[in-house]
Amino acid sequence: MNITFNNDILCSDNQLNKLISRNDFANASRLLLNLQKNNWSQLSEGYKSLGSIKTKEYLFDGFTLRLQFNPGRIISTSAKVDEIAIKTRKCFLCHENLPKDQKGILYRNYFLILCNPFPIFPEHFTIPSIKHSPQEIKNSIGILLKLSKDLSSDYIVFYNGPKCGASAPDHLHFQAGNKFFMPIDKEYNYLKKKYSEGIFRNENISIYVMDDKLRRFISFESKNKREIIRYFHKLYSLLIINSNENEEPKMNIISSFSKETGWNLIVFLREKHRSSHFFAQGDKKILLSPAAVDLGGVCITPMEKDFYKISKETLIEIFNEVSFSRKKFEVLLEKMKDKFNPLLSFENGKS
Ligand SMILES: [Zn+2]
Repeated sequence: MNITFNNDILCSDNQLNKLISRNDFANASRLLLNLQKNNWSQLSEGYKSLGSIKTKEYLFDGFTLRLQFNPGRIISTSAKVDEIAIKTRKCFLCHENLPKDQKGILYRNYFLILCNPFPIFPEHFTIPSIKHSPQEIKNSIGILLKLSKDLSSDYIVFYNGPKCGASAPDHLHFQAGNKFFMPIDKEYNYLKKKYSEGIFRNENISIYVMDDKLRRFISFESKNKREIIRYFHKLYSLLIINSNENEEPKMNIISSFSKETGWNLIVFLREKHRSSHFFAQGDKKILLSPAAVDLGGVCITPMEKDFYKISKETLIEIFNEVSFSRKKFEVLLEKMKDKFNPLLSFENGKS
């Protein structure tokens, strides 16, 4: 693909180019971040304010949710993502609209790795397609897996669906952040033991469904990328039956990779973009707009008063409102058991 950038958006540091030529995108991304902190004041301010955020933790049965008061996230949390708002604004992920000091890394000719100026993670990247095309996962699951392998020495990669957390639903993008920053990265194996049901397994892939009473999700474990794509598409086709065919089934995805175990793709199924608390008036209003990172265990609120107000019960309410309903989840589970070649499935349900 021939790419013509309107401005000199690609970072031209020698050391960075050496890392890129070796496909060492994790170290290249880290170097980009360090260079940009020196040359882009909005970014260095964003990271400075990350140093003064407040956090508190809530313990649930086998997992943790960490609440983060992060005023820098106000734009993203309260973003208007309706069609009119999107059509009338300049797309902030198109390279011609990026801030003048922002630089990026070209990733395999189709994506740009950029530093996120409103970080949640100690190192936080936004990775938009170089083309302005809609946020959709069906045809981009392969690149998500590839990207998470390429960044896997240090980072996980996540995806927010156009109707459940993406602040640019009109521009395909992923995000990346530090491995083990979200509680779910460390808690996954325990969650699997306590809450999962094995749905399908063959020599290449294991698929689990989990309901930890707050979140409903599916996980795919495999060293074989094609196999994950194949079964992800099977899941997608089961989900699309019940939803508007023109609309992507609501989901948030976290993808991680390790040399020992391969990929772990976690697909959180969603009912709603935002809970009733977001739309409540007066004192009852809570600015928390859950997406992949929140479901991964780091719940972001840009309002200090909400940080103090949110209780464990509030989080249970919010998560249950925005997650796939238990009833729908049970129906899906039965369909998965039926459609995913049952001859090779787990023998005893529980694994
Ligand atoms: Zn765009």
